[in-house]
Formats: sequence, structure tokens, C-alpha cells
Amino acid sequence: MATDYDAPRKTEDDSESIEALKERVPDKLSGAVDVEDADNPSGFELPGADLSDLELDVVVLPPQEDEFTCVECFLVKHRTQIDHDTAIGAVCIECAA
Ligand SMILES: [Zn+2]
Repeated sequence: MATDYDAPRKTEDDSESIEALKERVPDKLSGAVDVEDADNPSGFELPGADLSDLELDVVVLPPQEDEFTCVECFLVKHRTQIDHDTAIGAVCIECAA
């Protein structure tokens, strides 16, 4: 009988159905951002800045001018370690040995 009473009450009462929807939505972050955006717009900028900072930290620098990538072992080494150049790239001393 308890379930019978609960079911029609949700559909009839608007505020009750909204509460039920919020509880059912697993994405709590989107709801939190919505509330923060309306109340305090600056709160929305913080996570964005955080993300760009993370991306900058993750960026891997390409080989420098005095470095090369060996076509045999694919390691980035200093130019002084080039043994010889091939059609596809440089080979390091260790791979040429
Ligand atoms: Zn090598």
C-alpha cells in the first residue's frame, strides 16, 4: 500500500517530481555548475583555468635543435650521438654499433 500511495503523489505534485528527478540524475556536477553560474559567474571560470593549466603541464616538448630521434630505437638523443644519417633519419651510435 505504501508504494501505491507514493506513485501518484510524485506525478501530481510538481515540486516533488523535480526533487525526484534531481536525485535520479547521476551527474551532480552539471547541477552544481548551474547553481554556481547563476549565483556567482566567477565560480565558472575557475575550473576552466584549472583545465588549461593541466594541459600546459602535460604538453611534451618536441626534440630540441641539438637533439634527434634515432630511427632504430626511437630515443631522443643529443646530436653528438649520431653515428650516421639514413634516408629515413639519423641512427645513434649505440644502434650502429
Ligand atoms: Zn638508436
